[in-house]
Formats: sequence, C-alpha cells, structure tokens
Amino acid sequence: MGFKCSSELKAGRKNLMKNVAIVLAAGQGKRMNSKVQKQYLLIKDRPVLYYTLNSFETSPLISEIILVTGKDEIEYCRKEIVENYGFTKVVKIVAGGKERYHSVYEGIQAIDSADYVLIHDGARPFVNYEIIERACAAVEEYKACVVGMPVKDTIKIADEEGFAAQTPDRRKVWQVQTPQVFEYELIKNAYEKLMIEEPEGITDDAMVVETMTDHKVKLVEGSYRNIKITTPEDLDIATIFCGL
Ligand code: C5P
Repeated sequence: MGFKCSSELKAGRKNLMKNVAIVLAAGQGKRMNSKVQKQYLLIKDRPVLYYTLNSFETSPLISEIILVTGKDEIEYCRKEIVENYGFTKVVKIVAGGKERYHSVYEGIQAIDSADYVLIHDGARPFVNYEIIERACAAVEEYKACVVGMPVKDTIKIADEEGFAAQTPDRRKVWQVQTPQVFEYELIKNAYEKLMIEEPEGITDDAMVVETMTDHKVKLVEGSYRNIKITTPEDLDIATIFCGL
C-alpha cells in the first residue's frame, strides 16, 4: 500500500476541485468592422467560439462551463455550437450585459457552486491545456491570477496632446490575457462590490480584484499565441496558427 507522494495527493485534490469556466461571448466587436461578431467568425470552417469552448471542454481541470452571449444569440449558441459540437460541460447559457464586466457578473451569478472561477474571453480561441494548467496551479497558491506575457515593444504613455510622456521599463510591463482565475468567494464578493460602485474604466477582472479588495493578483505565463481576435488582421494570424 504505502503512503501517497505529495504530487499524487495534489493530483487527487485537483480532481476534487470544482473549476468553473465563464466564457464571454456577448461583445459586439465593433473594431472588427464586420456584420458578424468576432466570436462567430470562421477559422477553417469553425466559429472562433468553437475553438475556445473546445479547450475548456477537453481540459480535465474544468468541471463546468457557463457561456455568456448576447440575449439574441442564446438559441443560436445552444443549437449551432453547444449541441452541434457536443460540448457537454456547458451547463448554462446566459445573456450578458452592456460592458464586459456586466457580462462577467451575469456569469458569476449563474454559478451554483465552485472552488475556482476561470474568466475567459470567447474571442481568445488559442487558450490551451498548458495555459489552463499553469493558471489553475497558480490560483491554488495565490487565490487570484491572470495569464499574460511580457511586452515585446517599448510602451509609451501619452500625454493629453499625444506626445510621449513616459516610458515604463518594459521588463515590468505585461500584456494581460485571459483566463483570469480566482477563488470563487473572492471574485464573487469583488464583483458584488463593483456593481454597487460601478467605477469607470474597468477592462479586466484583475482590476476588479485590485480595486475592490486588498488581495494581490499574480501574473502567470500565458502564450504569445493566446491572441484575442479583435481586428481583421487577427483573423489572418488565427488562420495561420490553426494550421500549425
Ligand atoms: O471588447 P473586448 O475585446 O474587450 O471583449 C473581450 C471579450 O468579452 C469578448 O469575448 C467579448 O465577446 C466579451 N464581451 C462580453 N460582453 C460585453 C463586452 C465584451 O461578453 N459587453
């Protein structure tokens, strides 16, 4: 019989964890200049959202998926994406809100119970097993983490007139991606506080935790391939990534 080594114990504990992924697909995607929202555009004959959901569906670390869409796309998503591709982990499809953070809040409210919550942009189809695993390992240790990558370019902070005002040390500047992963109670409480205060300029979930709690958010390595489909050229890059 013998004692279990710590990695076996850790693996066993992970299997008992309930990790819920909220996949956001309720945005209008105005920067794409397309009638079809970016999450439904096709890459090699399948919608962007298919690839995103598939990564969470096939990860053993994920128990359930809550899909957040526009209220007019709920039926389309149910039939053409969830049923058509057989995504069995999608337990609910709920309508999102005006801003991204409203959509996240709808997703959080739809959770029955969870240990950890992974919040992910539906328009990031190249999230993969390794990224999810790194994020899930970090959240167990830090309770709040976001994936991202150090920037490659020099970043300038502009002044009001559009002149370069500051140049932050690029070794300390990260471009943040998703998933952003949190202990359930922490993110639920932070979002409940946010919805009362509704401050301006909230662009990601880490910011909600940074501003609404005193909890620190750990930065975890994502991937330079974990791009968000935002403008038409991203779709060209995505098609290349898909063929690799
Ligand atoms: O607009 P942005 O590129 O930041 O959107 C990131 C993700 O959040 C996209 O997958 C988009 O569909 C989603 N979103 C949402 N509800 C909104 C705005 C964005 O679900 N109101």
